[in-house]
Amino acid sequence: MSTTISNTSTHTALSMAPVVPTTGALSPLGLDEVRITDGFWADRQRVNGAATLPHVEHWLEREGWLRNFDLAAAGTLPEGRRGREFADSEVYKYLEAVAWELGRLGGDDALESRFRSVVDRVAGAQEADGYVNTRFGRPGQGERWSDLEWGHELYCLGHLFQAAVARERTSPGADDGLLGIATRAADLICEVFGTDGIQSVCGHAEVEIGLAELARVTGESRYLDLASLFVERRGTGVLADIEYGRAYFQDDVPIREAEALRGHAVRANYLAAGATDIAVEQGDTGLLEALRGQWDRTIARRTYLTGGQGSHHQDEAFGEDFELPSDRAYSETCAGIASIMFSWRLLLEDRDVRYADHIERVLYNVVATSPSAAGTAFFYANTLHQRTPGESSPDDEVSPRASSSERAPWFDVSCCPPNVARTLASLAAFVATSDDHGVQIHQFASATIDTTIGGAHGGRFRAELVTDYPRSGVVSLRILEAPRDAVTVSIRVPSWADDARLSVTPASGAEETQDVAPGYADLARVFAAGDVVELSFGMRPRVTHPDPRVDAIRGAVAIERGPEVYCVESVDLPGGDETLARIEIVPDAGVEEAADGRLTVALRARPVVDAAWPYAERFDAPRDVESFTATIAPYHSWAERGPSTMRVWIPTTRS
Ligand SMILES: [Zn+2]
Repeated sequence: MSTTISNTSTHTALSMAPVVPTTGALSPLGLDEVRITDGFWADRQRVNGAATLPHVEHWLEREGWLRNFDLAAAGTLPEGRRGREFADSEVYKYLEAVAWELGRLGGDDALESRFRSVVDRVAGAQEADGYVNTRFGRPGQGERWSDLEWGHELYCLGHLFQAAVARERTSPGADDGLLGIATRAADLICEVFGTDGIQSVCGHAEVEIGLAELARVTGESRYLDLASLFVERRGTGVLADIEYGRAYFQDDVPIREAEALRGHAVRANYLAAGATDIAVEQGDTGLLEALRGQWDRTIARRTYLTGGQGSHHQDEAFGEDFELPSDRAYSETCAGIASIMFSWRLLLEDRDVRYADHIERVLYNVVATSPSAAGTAFFYANTLHQRTPGESSPDDEVSPRASSSERAPWFDVSCCPPNVARTLASLAAFVATSDDHGVQIHQFASATIDTTIGGAHGGRFRAELVTDYPRSGVVSLRILEAPRDAVTVSIRVPSWADDARLSVTPASGAEETQDVAPGYADLARVFAAGDVVELSFGMRPRVTHPDPRVDAIRGAVAIERGPEVYCVESVDLPGGDETLARIEIVPDAGVEEAADGRLTVALRARPVVDAAWPYAERFDAPRDVESFTATIAPYHSWAERGPSTMRVWIPTTRS
């Protein structure tokens, strides 16, 4: 028997947003309700649309990952198949990114036809029973579902489902056939992996998120039930033990019993995000409580200053608590994006500002760091300390390694570039939400907001958000239209904000101002067109110290300003690389504002000698400490000026 799930919030399952729960504290506003118009993120969205999307499509074609679908349709596989076992997923992530981009632009004929042509190629590869994957199931290939540990078949389908969801939400009822491809595949895996089917899971979580959202879009509860089965099975040893241990794919401990995210950082966050979807839809308070606890512990003990996660290169995994060495920071771009996905779901459920604070940290310091300014090269790993300048990555070669010293155009495993693309294209959906009382602003960007507040006293709400954040800490919301009754406008005050003040200047009447604390600053009143709400807070540079248990950086400090983490790059130092290795900071000497968001800081370079043995009772060289002032820049802007070395954490001076 088929049952359906239904949405009780103001926003329907077809709201133009990646995540639309049927219940929760907050309802997401879609790309048609929030449009980013100017500033830091608008610039990146423009580059993403103009450069990154064509770049990704070019490389999918060039590497043969798109052609794999043509070969499947022609029946000639496995001959000629190229790419790793999960190459199909990058095509689906590209489709998802283009679907959001089409929603963001409100349509674009050329992009629409590129989208359809890729969907047609995927459609040709789908088999009669709904199966679609270019790596398995044909003579000469592994049998379907024969390698759940490493095969990524269900993982790829999860990305297919997310692409179909993005398409249906941005172009409801489109006749391209993508939603049908997705539901036929979902119906197949409901049979194959359902209660009476294969009692296992995919080595890489992802299908859970895709199934949950596909259930929300179609109202088909079987998809949610299957996602729930996958979440409950994992952790009971259903997958084979491997050299990294079952924690690698979170099959070591049932999700309800786990205390922190562990193992492969992308898998762990995708699983937690999907489990949150299921807990929310099923009203499973026990599962939600477990997930909140895992989020808390992971943030408190397993997250870099940048918001990045994962400190093991070999298995792309979380380390132990406080194992966060700067020079071995893996901090995969996808892990940051996955952490945003987990946090965003908890934010919608709980309205807890800590989730929005973390999302901002990851956006500015991981998501904005990965792509080059031109949008055609990417960091896969995001180290916090680059020890050697390395070599430039040629712009026409695939990078075999995930951790080059400069951004690379494409990788053998190229999960990150299309993940960045879909995140930037859908970014407006993370700016604001609504509930039956009003509207909440979580992220700061110049944007227009046009939505309907639900509830008995609701109505249309239109406003213009204006800010040059992160250059200044002033965010203005000009009301263009508001319900006749009182509503509440809530604006996030970041946890680090000093002297935060919230003022309202009515279209007629005197300005009212109040001091506000970090959290959501709420303003409840009857608004009229022309009213201006303004949040302002200090953006002084901050000298940040680590918990001493993060012993790899004990005795070092980092500089932050607003949401941006700063770094020292060798190209800004006298003596370059050689100096960067020796620098220390005099914390009391002060950090000053410079032009274009850069800062100046007083540094010293410790004298050193090259010795046959690098340990001694004393290690001072016979020359003086050199003192100088250096310019430092936001971490997301590093590695744009040729090979260099860089560090976020700076040792403090010995007196
Ligand atoms: Zn990645």
